[in-house]
Amino acid sequence: MSSLTVKDLTKAFGTTPVLTGVDLHVPSGSFTALLGPSGCGKTTLLRLIAGFEDPDTGTVAVGDRVVAGAGRGVAARRRGIGFVPQEGGLFPHLTVAGNISFGLPRRQRRDGGRVRDLLQLVGLDADLADRSPHQLSGGQQQRVALARALAPEPSLVLLDEPFSSLDAALREETRLAVSAALTASGATAVLVTHDQAEALSMADQVAVLRDGRLVQRTDPRTLYRRPGDLDVALFVGEAVVLDAEIRDGRAHCALGSLAYEQTSADPVADGAARVLLRPEQLRLSAPVPTAPGARGPIAKVRSVDFYGHDSRAWLELPGGVRVSARLEGVDLPSAGDDVSVTVRGTALVFPPVGTGLPGYPDSVPAHLA
Ligand code: ATP
Repeated sequence: MSSLTVKDLTKAFGTTPVLTGVDLHVPSGSFTALLGPSGCGKTTLLRLIAGFEDPDTGTVAVGDRVVAGAGRGVAARRRGIGFVPQEGGLFPHLTVAGNISFGLPRRQRRDGGRVRDLLQLVGLDADLADRSPHQLSGGQQQRVALARALAPEPSLVLLDEPFSSLDAALREETRLAVSAALTASGATAVLVTHDQAEALSMADQVAVLRDGRLVQRTDPRTLYRRPGDLDVALFVGEAVVLDAEIRDGRAHCALGSLAYEQTSADPVADGAARVLLRPEQLRLSAPVPTAPGARGPIAKVRSVDFYGHDSRAWLELPGGVRVSARLEGVDLPSAGDDVSVTVRGTALVFPPVGTGLPGYPDSVPAHLA
């Protein structure tokens, strides 16, 4: 397995720039997710790495070998890269074994043991080897596609939204199997996804693309807890964003006076700001009279969305500000209840720039907007 290094990669289709100055390093044996909204250039970046498109400027190197840019243009099939497309792309006229061994040298194709090992690696029963792709479930097909990509022991495996066509239960199960297979094979892998839960749960490193630029690259926990800006914060999870005033070392907002942390290299000064909290940081309890420094403001519960494993309560704070709280447990409030709201942990502060909160209004259900 090899590392992947992308330097200053640029690509336009016609006069429309799609990628601008993208730098990315994926250490050998690690797993990176490319995360971003639809149309931000994720698939284009993956196709440039794979060799299906040529960059306008910049370089792609697999290990020490430059495969694109700087006057080099190694053909896709000679890059030593395995590719798992969105919907498997298995050859319908070949069996599972035929698909898996397709990219192997002729001598190895007859080695049934190799196919069995690869099926085992992706968590499939060896009995499936003689089946046709149409006799497999969508999740099984994606696992076979991964086995086929891993068969020639590539330097790098690229996965282009491989779970997007699967339903929720199968997606989770297939993700786990694919993660386990990639870890067991020691593969260097890059996954394209617009699903933040997928990126955060599977990858060692998440690279966030926005409008063709790489805006943040870090480990999943840091990305969620210390997003570089509010756009990234809103993209990687649900958020409570409130106007605030920074004064006396505290952030004063509709949830009271909060301890805060700075996130960017450019600290927010005293005065107007915005604070970011995650809904799971809000704690609800029976209302108590609010005095300065007491148990937080009293909010009215507008509605509760029940998901089984947890719930979301939509709250109206004094002044009409609406926020959501993620709640665990069985003791849930009901619509119309008054609750005391306290905050666990610290808020992150961001500058008070712009007029709207990009993406945020969409996260408020229509009946509360
Ligand atoms: P999605 O998640 O919807 O697949 P993406 O982030 O993968 O989106 P890309 O498929 O890389 O985005 O596309 C980025 C932009 O480039 C889009 O505006 C798309 O229309 C455009 N684009 C992609 N391929 C081509 C092409 N071959 N010719 C012209 N424009 C293209």
